[in-house]
Amino acid sequence: MLYYSTSHISPKVDFKEATIKGQAPDKGLYFPEIIPQLPENFISNIEQYSKEEIAYNVIQPYIGDAIPKNELERIVKETINFDFPLVKVEENIFSLELFHGPTLAFKDVGARFMSRCLGYFVKDENKKITVLVATSGDTGGAVANGFYDVKGVDVVILYPSGKVSSVQELQLTTLGKNITALEVDGTFDDCQQMVKQAFADEELNKKLFLTSANSINVARWLPQQFYYFFAYQQWANKNQPPVISVPSGNFGNICAGLLAHRSGLPVQHFIAACNANNVVYNYLLTGKYTAKNSVATISNAMDVGNPSNFVRILELFDQEFNSLKNVMSSYSISDEETKKTLKEVHSDTNYLLDPHGAVGYLGLEKYLQQHPGLQGFFLETAHPVKFYDVVEPIIQQPVPMPDAIKYLLKEEKQSIEIEVDYNSLKDYLLSK
Ligand SMILES: *Cc1c(COP(=O)(O)O)cnc(C)c1O
Repeated sequence: MLYYSTSHISPKVDFKEATIKGQAPDKGLYFPEIIPQLPENFISNIEQYSKEEIAYNVIQPYIGDAIPKNELERIVKETINFDFPLVKVEENIFSLELFHGPTLAFKDVGARFMSRCLGYFVKDENKKITVLVATSGDTGGAVANGFYDVKGVDVVILYPSGKVSSVQELQLTTLGKNITALEVDGTFDDCQQMVKQAFADEELNKKLFLTSANSINVARWLPQQFYYFFAYQQWANKNQPPVISVPSGNFGNICAGLLAHRSGLPVQHFIAACNANNVVYNYLLTGKYTAKNSVATISNAMDVGNPSNFVRILELFDQEFNSLKNVMSSYSISDEETKKTLKEVHSDTNYLLDPHGAVGYLGLEKYLQQHPGLQGFFLETAHPVKFYDVVEPIIQQPVPMPDAIKYLLKEEKQSIEIEVDYNSLKDYLLSK
């Protein structure tokens, strides 16, 4: 399988090179040249396959011969060694719980897969790779955990000071070893901008071998298809495919779902559930895409003003506004609505949402109200305990704490504070 750049200047590369490079040199995103089609009997017999078999069959065509079969089987198995339950919340609404991994958010899947692929690829290089990543909250923890102690890989994480939850901050600042956290006095967009500048800096790239672990990296983006298939395996009413609502920020997750659908996964419709960061919502209303500065919300992992993966969605639909609109709708949900949803779902059903899941839930509920008779699920992208500082005042009850989180809260954060100034990042990277 080859990947081309969405900017169409850089040459095509295989999976290994796309993973190592992260972003294409022409600043486009890598996109698969062909979208694999899964055999019809794979979909209709999906209940007979194990999770590992499903994941392997979905991802193998994207890897080609970049990773041998036995290694890829191991990587897949280690990536998904936790549960992905589809839980009933209301008569027509289910929750796909993606928070049973080590950092309690869906990003564990992409980060675990990518770290293992990169670990495999650097084994036969004798250079050290530096993974540079900006986080709005959950990426940092998932990447730190996924890459912790991987030989030959250093990880540098930029996060916006005071704009991530305390659990998120501790997850990315307490590991040590090959993981360093840079605490930036700015927003997520500032962090992302600085990271992009580092990738474009020729002088820096001559001295360091840099790669990204943001969802622009194909090795993080593509495995996110897995759990859409796991959900379909658990979906009882196969005659009526689900409406799927995805809490969206950088749009990597929903783009993986759209890709899975294009490969043959039955889906009724997709909902891009956004918070006040409504660039894509506005695009679907008006046909015009206007990037904005991000605004801070209580679903902070979705505070993205210019979602990187949107170019991939346009690519998937050949830049055709109408074909995209037929498959995907969007809602923009305020913090007030998010809180109200979280509170009401908890008191009515006893199901505790996190703020991102609440946005997904409400997006789905709104769509189902306009389209009676359908059923669907939302992606519960994080465990509510990750945002206990937001959730507890809303439900006016403590959120039950897993032991791992109790231990984490006793640890001490270690970060290096930097200003929003590219040179401070560059100086740090060169001094390493
Ligand atoms: C990252 C994240 C999102 C947004 O996912 P994208 O792929 O960036 O759209 C949603 N919810 C949670 C909890 C996240 O960590």
